[in-house]
Amino acid sequence: MRIAMISEHASPLAFLGGVDAGGQNLHVAELSTALARLGHDVRVYTRRDRIALPAEFAFADGVTVVHVPAGPPEPLGKDLLLPYMKPFGRWLADSWTDGWSPDVIHAHFWMSGLAALVARRRVARPVVQTFHALGTVKRRHQGVRDTSPAARISLERSLGRGVDRVVAQCRDEVRELVRIGVPRDRIGVIPSGVDGATFAPLGPIAPRSEGRPRILSVGRLVERKGFADLIRALRLVPHAELVIVGGPPEAELARDPEAVRLRAVAVACGVADRTRLLGAVPREDMPRWYRSADVLACSPWYEPFGLTALEGMACGVPVVASAVGGLVDTVVDGESGTLVPARDPAALATALQDLLVDPVRRLSYATAGVDRARQRYSWDLTAERMTALYQRARDERRTGHRRMPAEAVAS
Ligand code: UDP
Repeated sequence: MRIAMISEHASPLAFLGGVDAGGQNLHVAELSTALARLGHDVRVYTRRDRIALPAEFAFADGVTVVHVPAGPPEPLGKDLLLPYMKPFGRWLADSWTDGWSPDVIHAHFWMSGLAALVARRRVARPVVQTFHALGTVKRRHQGVRDTSPAARISLERSLGRGVDRVVAQCRDEVRELVRIGVPRDRIGVIPSGVDGATFAPLGPIAPRSEGRPRILSVGRLVERKGFADLIRALRLVPHAELVIVGGPPEAELARDPEAVRLRAVAVACGVADRTRLLGAVPREDMPRWYRSADVLACSPWYEPFGLTALEGMACGVPVVASAVGGLVDTVVDGESGTLVPARDPAALATALQDLLVDPVRRLSYATAGVDRARQRYSWDLTAERMTALYQRARDERRTGHRRMPAEAVAS
């Protein structure tokens, strides 16, 4: 199949860990290369956010990244991109009318879905949508601090009804999608995967601090990742050090508002000497950092999927995670990790401390985590399931089996 991936803000080429660069970039990169390994021809369309970018870039065998001119060729926060989605979609339709055109369009994040529906008006192909995050969930947790465009929630609702298929990454997302009105029979559950060759228990280990158990946490430096809860928990976990990976490069941490806030929390809690912010770590170094940890803590307030827990499990690191979103599916409580309520530093501290003093349980979690990640969460498996879903969407469109709803969103 010829597959068009649309990922407006999250380029597979972007440096991971920045505010708007994280799991989605990686998901699109890994899914696209796994689909290409199955023999598909994949093009990833992402916004041109620098003048110097080439029009096209050969990302991997069978995967080309295409930079779409939509909006100014400079980095813009994703909350500012909505006005450029119509030009983005029109550009896609133009390019698909003249040359290569897809059998299926797979949009990532809601704004890509809008661009896909604009393009579908002229190039009628099935559109598959992965939201990665939902406006309703963000609003619930962030309230007035949610900077998403005001129309996001209603546009996501229409988008969920207007596309051919919606991919949820976990059971919790299915519930959320049904709640906003997406028909259940249009939703397929296909989780992300983990690259088991890169994320494995054996291999080099990042330097350890003498005599201190290490708690590692990884993610973009945004409030909802719950790093502040973890710093508060550290007060109740004596001797341990907390290493936080992610955010801008280390040299820019002093200017990063969330890094500044987290450091202030650490000072106020009296744990600044045991809290280290590393800034962004290149992807290829991530396994070394996971392997250096005694425990991986994933303490988000909400989490659409949560790749880091899976990466930690694949590296043989026991996980303590908030019982939210995708983490409830990936981490089996009492088997490959411990689940705790979100935003509860005391519960987090108890779970971390219990694990740090219990090497036998750490080992059994680690072993179960490696098995689970390998058996259930490979990217090849994700790509096979996705192929089957694409085929169903294409067949339904060809045979007209499913009555397609009006393209309400694209107008
Ligand atoms: N990551 C990385 N370097 C960093 C921070 C994060 O490579 O400095 C990667 C991390 O290994 C994971 C992804 O970024 O693959 C974050 O994905 P997750 O699903 O946890 O969070 P999201 O960014 O989607 O909210």
